[in-house]
Amino acid sequence: MPELLQLQQVSGGYHGRTVVHEVSLSIAEGEAVAAVGANGAGKTTLLRLIMGQLPLSGGQVFFAGRDLARLPPFERVRLGIGYVPEGRALFPEMTVEENLEIGAYRASRADLRQRLAYIYQIFPKLQRLRQTRCRLLSGGEQQMVTVGRALMTHPRLLILDEPSTGLAPRVVGELYQALRALHAGGLTVFVVEQNAYAALRFAQRGYVFEDGHITRVAPAAELLHDPRLVESYVGRA
Ligand code: ATP
Repeated sequence: MPELLQLQQVSGGYHGRTVVHEVSLSIAEGEAVAAVGANGAGKTTLLRLIMGQLPLSGGQVFFAGRDLARLPPFERVRLGIGYVPEGRALFPEMTVEENLEIGAYRASRADLRQRLAYIYQIFPKLQRLRQTRCRLLSGGEQQMVTVGRALMTHPRLLILDEPSTGLAPRVVGELYQALRALHAGGLTVFVVEQNAYAALRFAQRGYVFEDGHITRVAPAAELLHDPRLVESYVGRA
C-alpha cells in the first residue's frame, strides 16, 4: 500500500523548547492507525506540526508524496487532510447544519447537499438535530458535529485529537462505530488518544508515544494485550 502520510524525524515545540523529538511515522492509504500516550506526551503538538499550525524545528512531513513544508494549514486541508481538534470548537449559537456548512470550503450548492447527506447517513442523529443550536447538544453530539465538519472537505485522511475525551463509554462506542463506517468506506484514519482502549480496538496499527518520542509500533491487537500498556494507558473505559 502506498504511504499517504509520512513523517520523517519530525521535531518541534514551543519557544525553543522541543516537545516532539524526531518522530518518524507512516500511514498507508486505507489504514486505521492510533497513537496512544499519556497526558502531556506531546500528542496534540505532533498533530499541530502535521497540520502546519506550528513550525517544524526539524524533519519533514509528506502527504500523498508531497512535502508539506511551507504549506499553511488551510492548504493542507485542501490537499485532503481533515482535522478534528481537541475540544470541539463549535460555534455555540449556530445550528448543527450551519456549523457543518462552515467546514465546506468554497463548495457548490450541489456538493454541499451531497456532503450533508453523507454526514447525516454516518450520523443519523445529526439530521434530526440539524436546526438545533450547538450549545444545546450533549458532548457526544458536539463531537459528531466536529467530525462531520472535518468531513465536509472530502478528506482522504481524517486526523482526530482525543475524540473520546469527556464522553460516556456508550457514547465513545457510538463515535467509534461511526469511525468504523468511515474507514470501511475507504477513509484513512489517524486517531490520537490518551484513553487508548477504544482507539486500539478500532485501529489496525498503533504507535506508543512517550515524552515526545515514539517508543513502540505494533499491530493494535498486540498493544491491547500488552500488560504494561494495559496498565499505563489502555484501561477499560
Ligand atoms: P493532552 O492529553 O494534555 O492534550 P498531549 O499529549 O496532547 O497532552 P501536548 O498538548 O502536545 O500533549 O503538550 C505537550 C507539552 O507541550 C506539555 O508540556 C505542554 O505543557 C506543552 N505545551 C502545549 N501547548 C503549549 C503552548 N501553546 N505553549 C507552550 N507549551 C505548550
